[in-house]
Amino acid sequence: MGETDENCLFCKIASGEVPSDRVAESPLAVAFRDVNPQAPMHVLVVPKRHEPDIGSLAAADPESAIALLELAQRVAESENDGSYRLVFNTGPDALQTVFHCHAHVVGGRRLTWPPG
Ligand code: AMP
Repeated sequence: MGETDENCLFCKIASGEVPSDRVAESPLAVAFRDVNPQAPMHVLVVPKRHEPDIGSLAAADPESAIALLELAQRVAESENDGSYRLVFNTGPDALQTVFHCHAHVVGGRRLTWPPG
């Protein structure tokens, strides 16, 4: 496992120190339900390694970035019919609020486009 940040909420969820509604796990990533779901399926997939966003994760640890995508696909197939939207809010203007890379796996209803 890569580096972690002892002050990071999602590092604590990944390690199990903070409880979550966990739905799946792989050696490099963890999936748990968002506490404020925006759709019938709203799962967050995070790497166990602490990186602030998907760009820095891909640069620092491509294997973890791929593991995150693989786990997102697995979650969407088990929770839904494999139809889903993957969102990486990246940076304050995109309303990223937790600065540990996470994919929102959203679906379970017909989604609208474009996003607001
Ligand atoms: P973002 O705005 O893209 O950074 O998304 C952060 C997400 O984390 C939000 O959708 C929150 O609802 C969610 N969240 C915050 N704290 C928790 C928690 N303890 N367990 C699960 N989801 C959380």
